[in-house]
Amino acid sequence: MEKYIMALDQGTTSSRTIIYDKAGNIIASSQKQFTQIYPYEGWVEHDPLEIWDTQLLTAQEALSKAGLTYENIAGIGITNQRETTIVWDKATGTPVYNAIVWQCRRTADYAERLKPCEEMIRRKTGLVADPYFSATKLAWILDNVEGARDRARRGELLFGTIETWLIWKMTGGKVHVSDYSNACRTMLFNIITLKWDRDLCDLLEIPMQMLPKPVECSAHYGDTTKELFGGPIPITGAAGDQQAALFGEACFNEGDVKSTYGTGNFLLLNTGDKPVMSENNLLTTIAWGLNGDVKYALEGSVFISGAAIHWMREQLGFIKEASESVALANEVEDTGGVYVVPAFVGLGAPYWDPNARGAIFGMTRGTSKAHIARATLEALAYQSEDLLSAMRADTGQELSTLKVDGGAANNELVMQMQADISNAEIIRYSSVESTSLGAAYLAGLAVGYYDNLEDISASKEIAKTFSPGIDDTARKEMIEGWHRAVQATIAFRVL
Ligand code: ADP
Repeated sequence: MEKYIMALDQGTTSSRTIIYDKAGNIIASSQKQFTQIYPYEGWVEHDPLEIWDTQLLTAQEALSKAGLTYENIAGIGITNQRETTIVWDKATGTPVYNAIVWQCRRTADYAERLKPCEEMIRRKTGLVADPYFSATKLAWILDNVEGARDRARRGELLFGTIETWLIWKMTGGKVHVSDYSNACRTMLFNIITLKWDRDLCDLLEIPMQMLPKPVECSAHYGDTTKELFGGPIPITGAAGDQQAALFGEACFNEGDVKSTYGTGNFLLLNTGDKPVMSENNLLTTIAWGLNGDVKYALEGSVFISGAAIHWMREQLGFIKEASESVALANEVEDTGGVYVVPAFVGLGAPYWDPNARGAIFGMTRGTSKAHIARATLEALAYQSEDLLSAMRADTGQELSTLKVDGGAANNELVMQMQADISNAEIIRYSSVESTSLGAAYLAGLAVGYYDNLEDISASKEIAKTFSPGIDDTARKEMIEGWHRAVQATIAFRVL
């Protein structure tokens, strides 16, 4: 019987399921959007039951579209929006509050109060004290839902990030686990000892009995209950979206680095067996746990990347489709000295300024739409370069190859700009769907669908490479101009 892997991709705006064959071809897929709940300015929630319903529906639909049954699926792999926090009743499965989404800023004051402990937080978790991570969101639920902390102390409530919740639901409440790559984003997990950290839990009064069991990213966690797919399917892989993309791009070795160009831009560098503590404002994170071994990564994130192309389309009306940005930008040979800094929601790594706002510099009487479009595309590459150069500084490595994925990686001009600006070879695989593919690989390894990492690497096909084509002087000048534009943007920050 032909066997396949089912990847569940539980993202911030939609739940998707993709069924892959061994070569990484998509056999069938299904996607459902779900409700974004914005109770107040800066607050973002999801309904955990809607997440579960949409995820299950897409899985059932993908299976039926492919004309397969549960017996054809060798294993299920999960990848998910990270940090999003759910607390539910262990006996009934009812969430005590909506999921608090990673983007939600309601716990900014909690994070502020943790600032004096930032050194300890960094040492233990590799993270900075920020409301982005799960810990303060969990504390908020325990503080604000009546009786929640007492019930948690009595062992009646469970905490989970999205993969934990989905595995618990799929196994009918039997299995309560969190994989290392998700656990390490909670700010409660010690990335060296691979255990929940008592000091951090005490700091936020989080009862440890509500935390899931930490597990590797590729292992048999449990089976789906029979009624979901007509029979049991083993659940055998899980990883947070960015780490899954790193795995999906086959960045298995120390020094391998990938850039995902989606709404935002995420760079992850595999640093091998040792966590590297950044001196350049990057995060240290677990890449994955596999076969008794843990790999670490340096991570940098930029908030607005592909979203800047979206802005040109929706707000400026320059283009009708994202892909038209290439033709528009190619109407001119260069930006004519224009720089666009798309700091629409502040600046992420390595600048970390929430109060910065977007800006356009260097315009003259001759500046046209095409110059601005070209400068906007270049900004995607400059932002990635800032992260890459922080990684170079932290590790002393040259990092002359960058693997790319995500929607905007389809943009050939941006990819060429990236090669030029970063002086790096850009590698694009035939599939830019590396997030779900990474989850499929992890699930497949646990059941022998893939024998080893070499087996996976061999199945990957490079679609295109982009090589640097400008000289060092031009590169230096361009980057220097970008840095001046960023500094000027920061100087104008909102008060
Ligand atoms: P996400 O997973 O964050 O929703 P995707 O990986 O689907 O993002 O990428 C979508 C983003 O990529 C959008 O912001 C879109 O504007 C941008 N994008 C898609 N195609 C192109 C393209 N050809 N050129 C530039 N940007 C693009």
